[in-house]
Amino acid sequence: MAQIMRLATITNWAYGVTVALTLASGTTMLLASSALQRERASVTQRYALDRATAAIEDDVHVLTELARQYAMDGNASDLLAYQKTRAGLGSIESRTRHVKDAGAGDDELRALHEALGWADALQSQQQQAIAARRRGEADAAIRILFSSEYERELDRSRVAVERFQYRLDQRTADDLRAAERTSRLWRTTSEATLAVTGLLFLCVLYFVFRRRVLHSVVTLSDVISRLAAQDYDAEPPRYDQIDEIGDMAQALHVFRENGLERQRLERERDADGTVRDLLSRMTQRMQGCDSIAELENVVRRFVPEVAPQLAGCLYLLDAKRGMLVEGCSWLGPLHSAAEFSPLACWGLRRGAPHRRSGASFDVPCDHIGSSEIRDSICLPLIGQHGTLGLLYFEARADAPASHLNDAYLQMLAENVELALDNLRLREALLSLAMADPLTTLPNRRQLDEVLARELAEAERNGTALSCAMIDIDHFKRFNDEYGHDAGDAVLRVVGHTLKEAVRDPNLVFRYGGEEFLMLLPDMDETVAAERAEEIRSRVAALRVQHDGTDLGPITISVGLACAPVHTDWQALVQTADAALLRAKEAGRNRVLSAVVRKSQGGG
Ligand code: GH3
Ligand code: MG
Ligand code: MG
Repeated sequence: MAQIMRLATITNWAYGVTVALTLASGTTMLLASSALQRERASVTQRYALDRATAAIEDDVHVLTELARQYAMDGNASDLLAYQKTRAGLGSIESRTRHVKDAGAGDDELRALHEALGWADALQSQQQQAIAARRRGEADAAIRILFSSEYERELDRSRVAVERFQYRLDQRTADDLRAAERTSRLWRTTSEATLAVTGLLFLCVLYFVFRRRVLHSVVTLSDVISRLAAQDYDAEPPRYDQIDEIGDMAQALHVFRENGLERQRLERERDADGTVRDLLSRMTQRMQGCDSIAELENVVRRFVPEVAPQLAGCLYLLDAKRGMLVEGCSWLGPLHSAAEFSPLACWGLRRGAPHRRSGASFDVPCDHIGSSEIRDSICLPLIGQHGTLGLLYFEARADAPASHLNDAYLQMLAENVELALDNLRLREALLSLAMADPLTTLPNRRQLDEVLARELAEAERNGTALSCAMIDIDHFKRFNDEYGHDAGDAVLRVVGHTLKEAVRDPNLVFRYGGEEFLMLLPDMDETVAAERAEEIRSRVAALRVQHDGTDLGPITISVGLACAPVHTDWQALVQTADAALLRAKEAGRNRVLSAVVRKSQGGG
């Protein structure tokens, strides 16, 4: 801008100087022309003076000649011519008037007067000679006119005229020279000024063309070709001049703005497409998940791709404790607690997304530690049967502000919610199918799965796996004596006692009727026998009341088998069952281990 101003100023100055110089050269041309006129006037004056002087000299000469002619011949015509010429002369003043008019100076006129004085003096002698000749004295007349005195006076008159002419020559030559000099000087000055003006004009023209046209056109054409190649970093120059170049620059600005806007929209559209793709792929993967752990894995991998500017975590509701517990996290969230009550989150309390950011002010959630946090979003995950969890996001300190559409986060939350709900439902159905409703212990169907897993693990690790088959002694008696409900109560109490007696309650199964099965991983036959004995005595110590009636003592018989000591991995349950049968036969209320096999295949 400053430079443009400077260029404009320079150009204006140059225009001014050019105009001034043009005026100056015009003036000098006028002056040169007037000097030339003066020079011409001097020449004309000189010519006029020359002619006037020549006439005076001629007059003197002609009168002398005519007088002498008459003196010699006595011809009347010569006398007539003489008198005519003399009459034509008039006074000295009238004769010198031409010369005076032609511009002779006083000095010069004085010299002329003197010369004419001498000439007029000759006239009196001519008169005397003519008078003498009239009287017939031709000799006397000739003597007068051809006398040495007359010749002398004639010479004197001629010399006086020459002197006048000399003076005249001197002066007019000086005048002429001065006029010539002045004229030449002005002519030269005028030519020089004209040349300088022309040169400056060309310079200005060049400068204007180079600076304001060529430079601008080259810059604009460069910008045009870059913009044509969709390089919108090319910024058109700002020309404030009001002409075609200024218009072009303005048009380029508009073109660039439009291009940038289009590029931005395209980028947004592409980003939208990418996010949608990601979300749809994520949803597909989540639908394929069989467990919460798998789901968490998918969430942890996909969410940072969808919202890279936001760190966050997935909280899952621990229904037993009524707490939200962090399941997985991504990009290192810093501000939210790992575990908190649903009441600590406004999103969960309101059952709606809760966002707290600079733009939309709101109360902070209690599970967020720092109030300095730039942006936090809580998206409650609510399934068909109530709260499932919470999707939590926070702005990363080192990342630029998120431009992610809120609708995408909402969509993300809905997808996670749906997947989580499905998984919970499936889990519920599965546990219903796998659990025994009376004792809530895993049933025999689940045993097949768990047994296969435990066997494979023990075999892989080279550890022992023990199995205890447990049967309530004379159970039929409770049914018969106190009713079926009393029998159920006994089954529930025994099941509970067994579950409480082991490390992993998932390894105690209701095998059928009043029979239970217990897997004891990483336990050899001795330790397992001790544990079985302990369980047996715990059950024996139970006192169960039903409808106010004491049901009496409950005893169990236990058959123990340990793989690989007692049996093959595959025959573990049958071996334990066989041991149980032997315990019953041996009188019940006891623990019996399987017989140590002699070789592979024995039981
Ligand atoms: P033993 O000491 O030889 O094991 O004698 P027992 O009476 O315990 O064995 P038996 O196989 O003769 O009787 C088992 C009874 O358990 C038969 C069945 O009616 C009863 N029973 C099976 N399932 C249930 C149940 O879910 N609830 C109740 N109340 N009784 C059940
Ligand atoms: Mg029984
Ligand atoms: Mg039985």
